[in-house]
Amino acid sequence: MAKERTKVFGRGAHSCQLCGRKQGIVRRYNIYFCRQCFREWAPKMGFKKLN
Ligand SMILES: [Zn+2]
Repeated sequence: MAKERTKVFGRGAHSCQLCGRKQGIVRRYNIYFCRQCFREWAPKMGFKKLN
């Protein structure tokens, strides 16, 4: 039962809903942000900063 996962982006992969980036996705409240967008939006949306 060792099903090896390959790095396939696109199918089933989540992308940033702001810029479409697929790297460093942070999921909050059923929305997906990349770390960059999250960093910009976190303060605006009342999230705490991640250091
Ligand atoms: Zn983004």
